[in-house]
Order: sequence, then C-alpha cells, then structure tokens
Amino acid sequence: MLVVEDEPNIRELVCLHLGLEGYACASAADGALALKRAEAEQFDLLVLDVMLPGLDGVSLCRAVRRGTLNRDVPILMLTARAEESDKVIGLESGADDYLTKPFGVRELVARARALLRRPEPMPAPPPALDEEGDVAGPPVHIHGFEIDFARRRVRLDRRDIELTDQEFRLLHLLATHAGIVFSREALLTRIWRGDTYVTVRSVDTLVKRLRRRIEADPAHPRFLLTVWGVGYKFADV
Ligand code: CA
Repeated sequence: MLVVEDEPNIRELVCLHLGLEGYACASAADGALALKRAEAEQFDLLVLDVMLPGLDGVSLCRAVRRGTLNRDVPILMLTARAEESDKVIGLESGADDYLTKPFGVRELVARARALLRRPEPMPAPPPALDEEGDVAGPPVHIHGFEIDFARRRVRLDRRDIELTDQEFRLLHLLATHAGIVFSREALLTRIWRGDTYVTVRSVDTLVKRLRRRIEADPAHPRFLLTVWGVGYKFADV
C-alpha cells in the first residue's frame, strides 16, 4: 500500500498499524512524489491525505485514476475536516472512502480491510495433522470407508471417492467421532475456522453435497445422519 501524508506522525502511525496487520507499506510526504511512485508501481491500496503540499490529495487521486497501473486501486482519503469529506465525495475525485481526522487506528484498519475486500487468510491445515491438531494416524476404517487423512484420500468399499477439501474434513471429523452428534455451530467452527462469511446454512449445504458423494440414496442416508433439532452425526459402529 502507499500512504501519502505530509504530517510525519500521522504517516508513521498509519504505516505502523497497517504494517501490524501484515500489509507492506510505502509512504510519501507530498503529492508529486506519491504520483511518481503510483506511476511506477502497482499498489493494493492508496491512503491519501487531502491537504498535501504541492499536488493536493484530490488532484492526486484524479491523476492516479487517469493513469494505468493504479487506475482501479481502492483509495482511502484522509480529511482534516468534515467539510473536506464533502469535497472529496462531491468532486467525484475517484476516492472509494474517506476518514475524518482525528480517526482511530481500528477504524482505519477496518476501512482498509473493507476496501481490500480480502477475507482473512485462512491458515491451511498442515497435511500431517488431523482435525484435533494431532499427528495424523493410520487410515480410519469404518462402515466400509477407508479415510486417510495424511493422504487426503477416501475409499468406500475399495473404490476411490473424490471429495473437495471441505467435504473431506467434514467426513473425517464425523467419521472419527462416529455416533457423536455435532451441532451446526460446532461444525461451522471446525470446518470453516475463522471464515466469517458462512452461516449454519452452509453446513446443511455441505452435508447435502457430501451425501451425494458417499450415500447410495442421499435422501435416505446410511452414514451421514441428521439428528433433528441438534445437528449431524456419523453412523455409530
Ligand atoms: Ca496534510
């Protein structure tokens, strides 16, 4: 990201907190310098102060939009007064959002994240660890299934079954706890982890998909059972 702000303490504060969020920050203290950087390098986000020496933030914003490398980059404007924000929006400078000074760093980070529209990176589960965080043991055998977590492989009656990663993790979790009922909320937490863009309905959808892959008659499942009013379980041994 590129942070353009002539006041050193605000510039450093913004860079510090975006940096703490894991974003790499370049900074510039005036508009002309910032425009040079924006013409030479592609950024994921620009944070522009409106009042800058030389080229002001609104003109800089327009110039960036007319350029090539960063014409579609999200732009967050920093304004000193509420009237300035009217100017930013009213002049259709091309900014996507604005923050009025003084602003809180949490607000700044939230706006930046929203503009990036990037979901939180989900930690990929290490291949050799199972859902409990233990080192994956030997393949699990149950009801004709052979579920090999380390190899992400499922066989039913010796035939390979192709599953997506989510389908696999749902099957592995339930089958290694056969007979234990999991609520939708519990499954949501375990399968989707920190992803906040899913609801309990996503669990039902995933169960339906998995049933189509593993059940001979998905409408009358033998393995992946519904426990009405509670959730789901894998058929007990
Ligand atoms: Ca300023």
